[in-house]
Order: sequence, then C-alpha cells, then structure tokens
Amino acid sequence: MENGFRPTFDDSILDGYSAPKLFGQGVSYTYDDVIFLPGHIHFGAHEVDLSSNITRNIRLRTPLVSSPMDTVTEAGMAVAMASCGGMGFIHYNNSLEEQLHQVKTAKNHTPGFVVHPLCMLPTSTVAELYDIKERKGFTSVCVTDTGKVGGKLLGMVTTRDWDFVADLHTPLSEVMTTDLETAQYDTITAEKAMQLLKSSKRGKLPIVNSNGELVALATRSLFKDHSNMPLGGPASVGPDGRLLVGAAVGTREADKERVAALRDIGNVDVVVLDSSQGDSTFQVQMVQHIKREHPGLDVICGNVVTTWQARRLIEAGADGLRVGMGSGSICTTQEVCAVGRGQATAVYHTARLANSLGVPIIADGGVQNSGHIVKALALGASAVMCGSMFAGTTEAPGDYITVNGARVKKYRGMGSLEAMTKGSEVRYHSDTQSLKIAQGVSGTVRDKGSVRRNVPYLIQAVKQGFQDLGATSIHEAWRRLDSGEQRLECRTGAAQAEGGVHDMHTFDKRSW
Ligand code: 5GP
Repeated sequence: MENGFRPTFDDSILDGYSAPKLFGQGVSYTYDDVIFLPGHIHFGAHEVDLSSNITRNIRLRTPLVSSPMDTVTEAGMAVAMASCGGMGFIHYNNSLEEQLHQVKTAKNHTPGFVVHPLCMLPTSTVAELYDIKERKGFTSVCVTDTGKVGGKLLGMVTTRDWDFVADLHTPLSEVMTTDLETAQYDTITAEKAMQLLKSSKRGKLPIVNSNGELVALATRSLFKDHSNMPLGGPASVGPDGRLLVGAAVGTREADKERVAALRDIGNVDVVVLDSSQGDSTFQVQMVQHIKREHPGLDVICGNVVTTWQARRLIEAGADGLRVGMGSGSICTTQEVCAVGRGQATAVYHTARLANSLGVPIIADGGVQNSGHIVKALALGASAVMCGSMFAGTTEAPGDYITVNGARVKKYRGMGSLEAMTKGSEVRYHSDTQSLKIAQGVSGTVRDKGSVRRNVPYLIQAVKQGFQDLGATSIHEAWRRLDSGEQRLECRTGAAQAEGGVHDMHTFDKRSW
C-alpha cells in the first residue's frame, strides 16, 4: 500500500460473510438482496481500470454491451456503444438482409458522421417534415431522388427553409436549398469534415460519391456534442480498424446461412447464440458448427444460470457466456415457467466456473442502476448487458411518442406476444408450437437522452463503486472475492428500504 499502512488480514475481527458462505446457503439472491462491505481506499476513482474481455479474444475498455432486442440494438445503438468503448449486439428479429444491412451500416460507420441521415423525396411535403420533427426530433433532411441514402442528392432542407412556410402541402422541391457544399466520400475523414464545417460556417456537410449519390452526412452539432461528452476515450475497434459489432443468431438450420453472411459479407466480430435457455443440443451443435466452419469468429453462448449449463457450453466451444434467466425487466419466464435464478447468485456461481476455465461471462438483464453493474462485475462478470437501461435513448430503434405528457419509446421483451408475432419465438423454443406462450411483456420507457452521455456517467459511478470496494480493477475485485477479503451480507427488506431514499416529502432523484 502506497502510504505504508497495511492492515493485517485478521480473520478474527472480520465481519460480514465471504462469498462462498453467502452464496452457499440455498438462497437465490438478486442484486438488491446483497450488499458489499467497503474496503480500504488507497487510489483515486480515475485510476480504476474497468477494461475486460467479453469473449476469449475481444477486450473492451467499457464493460457494457447492449442487448440484441428489436427495441434496443440496431446500427445506431451499435455505433454509439462502440464509440463509448462498449459494444452492441444487433438483434435478429428481422430478415437476414435487414440484419446484414444493420451490421454493415455499423461496421462501415465513420465515427463523427450521422449513422442514419434522414432522407425524403422532392415530392414530400412540409407537413411530413412537421410529423418527422415530432416523432424523431429532426429539423433538417437531405432530399434525394429515391428518398433514401444512396439516391442522387438534390438538396437539403433545414429549419430556415421551411419554418415560415404557411402552406403545409408545399413540396420540398420548392423550399430546399440546392446550392450545397459537399465532400467526396473517397477522400473525406472526420477531421477534414470538421474543418470544412468550421470554415464554411455551415451546419451540415453531405458526403457524396463520384455519381453525386448521398453516402453520409457530417454535422456541426454532432462534432460539438462529441467534444462535450464526458470521459472520452478510444472507441472499440477490431483488428480490421472498424468499430466492433456483434450480432445475435438462432440455432436453426437457416441460422448457419445467417452466420456465414454476417461473417463473410458483414464482417461481424462476434455472434451470440440467442436463447433464453441455452443449455440445449441445438446450441451445442451450433457452436461446434461455427467453430468448425468459421475459425476466428468468437461465439457467445447462453443464456445460462448454473455451473452445469456453463460447463456444457464451454466444453462445446463457447468463447463467452451470457448469464441470466428471468431477471430482465420485461421478462416473465420465472412466473410462467418456474425456472431461472436470482441474478446475483447466477452470476457468482457461473463466473466461478467460467473464469477458472478462461471464459468470460456477461451478466445479462436486471440492471437498474450503476450499483447493479458494480455488483455484477465484482461478483465475477466481465461485462454487463442491458436492455431497459439503453431502451428509450436517442439511439434505440423506434420513434418517441407522448403518453400522459411523458415522452416515451417502445420497449418490449423478445418473448412478448408482440415481438414473437414478428418472429422472435425461436428464442423461446416455441416457433414449432401452435400455441404461443409469452415470456415477456411489451410497453414503453421514458426518454433517457443519448447513450453517448449516459454511458460515461454510468462508468464514472461504477469506478467510484470500485474505489469504495478498494479494488483498482475487475480482476482485483475477483481476487478479493476469492480470497475472502471481500465481505458481503444479505439485506433484509428493511435494509433495502433504508438503502434507498426515504422520509422525504418530495425529492428530485437525478443521477447526473
Ligand atoms: P433488462 O436489461 O431490460 O433488465 O433485460 C434485458 C434482457 O432480458 C435481455 O438481454 C434478454 O436476455 C432478456 N429478455 C429480453 N426479452 C425477454 C423476454 O421477453 N423474456 C425473457 N424471459 N427475457 C427477455
């Protein structure tokens, strides 16, 4: 210890429980049930290193990943997560072509550019712009001959072009600005785009190919936002120099073709075999197939909650495991099927086995705050996967709507009837059954702003948690847990109530 003070590790005055004792009592604990006793602080929170492997071969600076759900991760989320040093897993409740498009969009993304520039036809009207402003918050669009990215760029419409237009039926061709400064895709970089925007004093810089077709869009506000984001750092980038992107697949015959396309055409970095109960012959065979046919592609298996499940999938070739069954915010598996495990207990037991075999685990579901992330990591997880924490953000798929005065976005379980109707029932092994039983719900979550702002604050809070534990890194926290130095206790209901805000008439609970 730097200051020369080193307390002797004396069992006789230790209070609290060691992890094996606490988790060996036959009780299924959730994150809220357990609490860590504090350790000795001898370093600053900024010195905490949270980098960790999420598979045998992929290491992240930020141990947070977004869930492969159709209301959480498409290209925009995958780009934002990778930009913050984490990673996103693109869902597969879509056709192979759609999923491939999302993966390619994220992989080919140039940091600093808009992920999905909004395009409209010249015949679209000002009324349609008002509608888009309401749903997506955008006030300017590119006008192309196809109404999509890839079409010939005809003009741009910004607020200044249409805010005084009284006739809402006016077509965009009559209001758009056609005298545009553009940049060529082949030669532009994020740095050059920023310089051009600065020198031209314009807000938007469309990027076109040699045929004048729109490829990307750089904006002044995005660059300004990036420079204002807290705790910047390198993005998650693969050996190909592009953002790290993951994708979910199933275990059916058709998924073999999906994996091949995602890998060979999409250059995806890792696939997750997406199942609520991963301990199946289907998953064992699929991971063996991928390891044989696509050497070098990491495979995350799951979900599991027991050491036996974990061992079977590790022996089959899993490079990482997703842990959690029934803990998700939108999940009803434990109610419907009576199977699952409290998430803290599941993480602790599976991690003890998996970590000893060199396979990282991702704690998946049930995370409601930064404290839960601290608990998951300190109990043995290498990363945390979140659905609801990232749903409702600017980068989550879907439009905002207003419900009872609150701005919200849709968030639904992949086992909800709504999502299964679209095809996600394979995750619940129920695509061959005539009666569909839901294992999840659909609903809405409030507008949470941008992931690019939330993740850095979350990480700072987690680092402070590690500082309180007296652990400078995830591995140090595991060492403390294994040695018995880290003490824990179970919280009673009253202790949990005491640990939250209480006895306030009104209060404002803002985390950052
Ligand atoms: P959250 O972060 O919202 O608490 O949980 C997200 C996780 O819940 C996902 O990563 C996934 O593992 C799980 N999940 C997603 N949809 C469903 C569902 O409909 N039913 C169940 N049982 N789990 C779900």
